[in-house]
Amino acid sequence: MKNSKVVARSIPIGANKETTIKIEGLRKTFSRKNEEVEAIKGIDLDIKEGDFVSIVGPSGCGKSTFLHIVGGFIDKTSGKVTVRDKEVDKPGPDRGMMFQESALFPWKKVYGNVAWGLEVQGYSKKDIKDRVEHYLSLVGLWDFRNHLPSELSGGMRQRVSLAKVLAFNPDVLLMDEPFGALDAQTREKMQSELQRIWSESKKSVLFVTHDIDEAVFLSDYVVVLTKRPSTVKEIIKIQLPRPRGIEIRKSYEFVDYRNHIWDLLHAEENVKSIEGISYAK
Ligand code: ADP
Ligand code: MG
Repeated sequence: MKNSKVVARSIPIGANKETTIKIEGLRKTFSRKNEEVEAIKGIDLDIKEGDFVSIVGPSGCGKSTFLHIVGGFIDKTSGKVTVRDKEVDKPGPDRGMMFQESALFPWKKVYGNVAWGLEVQGYSKKDIKDRVEHYLSLVGLWDFRNHLPSELSGGMRQRVSLAKVLAFNPDVLLMDEPFGALDAQTREKMQSELQRIWSESKKSVLFVTHDIDEAVFLSDYVVVLTKRPSTVKEIIKIQLPRPRGIEIRKSYEFVDYRNHIWDLLHAEENVKSIEGISYAK
């Protein structure tokens, strides 16, 4: 790897960008019966305005826990999490969260699902219509506004979920393996779609995945966590040009990033490269 590795505990991006999410000395220990499980030992991260940052790490290392703490759904043990200088202590509309399974009401049509959060927040009918139309068009599903979730494919349901989250106009998007339940081809299409939507919406994104290709394809930075109790093992700056077409996955640079991250993850799991099989390094 040449010039792409940024070995640091916080992300040193250009000083001209504002910090959106700041994580300082984050620790999380779960207590279960008489047992203490240390999930996160210490994470420091500084995520800047408009950056796409992926978190990868061994299974069970605390990725979901980390994202749920930033979302305000789980209490931290110690440390500090701020979003736009406001300390996080509960969920809020400044943070849009998306999960592997779409959180849609099965009895509501697509329009009603996206409108729901806005109705709860007391937006006017006209504002709701404008926003729902804008965001359903952005994800390419305005024509499906009168469909029920059960009448859509898994990929379409995740696009509705994304429209629902974006309609709040959150400062940041927090995504926990949002394409994890989709087949490989739909997944690639969704990654391209997300890249387009992200570049139009200019949101900061914190994206958890176990898929290295997905992380490299989408990200400005990939944060590799150690096994549990997790700390930041390495931060890799992905210097691939944007917009990234699907062909980029075949490029030498892309494969180089993928192999480097693969090595980091497998070193955590004590898996050695298979002898006799050569790969770009
Ligand atoms: P990941 O998303 O990286 O696979 P998680 O964040 O789900 O990992 O879990 C990290 C660790 O914390 C695991 O060992 C898991 O068993 C533990 N853990 C997660 N949630 C709880 C909980 N509510 N109570 C006790 N232990 C938990
Ligand atoms: Mg998880």
